[in-house]
This record gives sequence, C-alpha cells and structure tokens, in this order.
Amino acid sequence: MAGPVEVRRSARRRRTVTAYREGGRTIVLIPAAFSAAEERRWVDQMVAKLQTREERRKRTLGSDDDLMARARQLSDAHLDGRAVPVSVRWVDNQNRRWGSCTPADGTIRLSSRLRGMPEFVVDYVLVHELAHLLEPNHDQRFWALVHAYPRAERALGFLEGVEHGGRTTPAATDDDLEPGAID
Ligand SMILES: [Zn+2]
Repeated sequence: MAGPVEVRRSARRRRTVTAYREGGRTIVLIPAAFSAAEERRWVDQMVAKLQTREERRKRTLGSDDDLMARARQLSDAHLDGRAVPVSVRWVDNQNRRWGSCTPADGTIRLSSRLRGMPEFVVDYVLVHELAHLLEPNHDQRFWALVHAYPRAERALGFLEGVEHGGRTTPAATDDDLEPGAID
C-alpha cells in the first residue's frame, strides 16, 4: 500500500465515500454515522480502487511507446489519420507548457506533469500537439482541428483550473471517485 491512510469523518456526508492522495497519504472521507465495520470495509475498498486506477493509468500510458500508440489512435479517430508524428515522448523539463510540437521534424513532447491526470486531459494535449503537425499556428483552422476532439473544451477547463489553483497534483483521483456513492 502507498503510505498511511487517514480517515476523516464528516457529519455532512450521508452516503458518499471519497478517497484521494495527498502528499504521501491516502485520505478517505466517510459519513460520520459509519460503524467501525463499515469504515474498515469502505477504506479497504477505496484504497484498492485508487490503486487499481493508478496502476491502470501507468499501464495505459506509461512509456513513450504507449504514448505514440495513443497518438496514432487519436489521429485516426479525430484527424482522419493525417497527423503522423515521428516521435512522441514524455519529458520532465517542460514546466510551463503541457506539451510541445516541432512540426519540422514531426516530434511531440508531453510534460510528465500530465501523468496521473485524467485520460481525457492527456488525450486533449496529444490532439492539440498532433493538430500542430498539420497547422503550426493557433489560428482558426488549428482550433477547428482541435475541436474535432469532443472533450477539448472540458480538458481546457480542467487544465486552466490546475494552473490557477497552482496545484502540481490535481485532484484527478478525487474527481474520479467522487461519484462513488454507496449503493
Ligand atoms: Zn499549441
């Protein structure tokens, strides 16, 4: 398990359980009315759920090869396969931009800060950079290409929130588990 677990009881919470990572810890928010047995059961379940999700993220886009494969899929799905990158890779030295593209040599780089963010956000940045292979400038034609990706608007909103919140690790996992109502 990744670090200690801290359980916080909330009187306002009735039926929902939320879990997220904070620093090295896992925070689990539960209704105040839970019995000790319910707490144990839900903490175990939520910790397992977080872990599964994190592992799946690592697995799906862990390596540069995965990223390249994903970029090809997105190009096929949203850009008629016209954007064909030569290389797509993760980089650690890109702190001000989420991604970058050099149309001249067909290379795309994604900031490793995107790791752990929801898939639709990573996909958006890939589509954005792929679109630059076809249209280097941020003009109308470029945005028309980008908006072929249906979740572009939502992803832009998410990234804006991250930038303005100044958070290095967005509450992506929290967001995903919030609807984890108990039924
Ligand atoms: Zn751009």
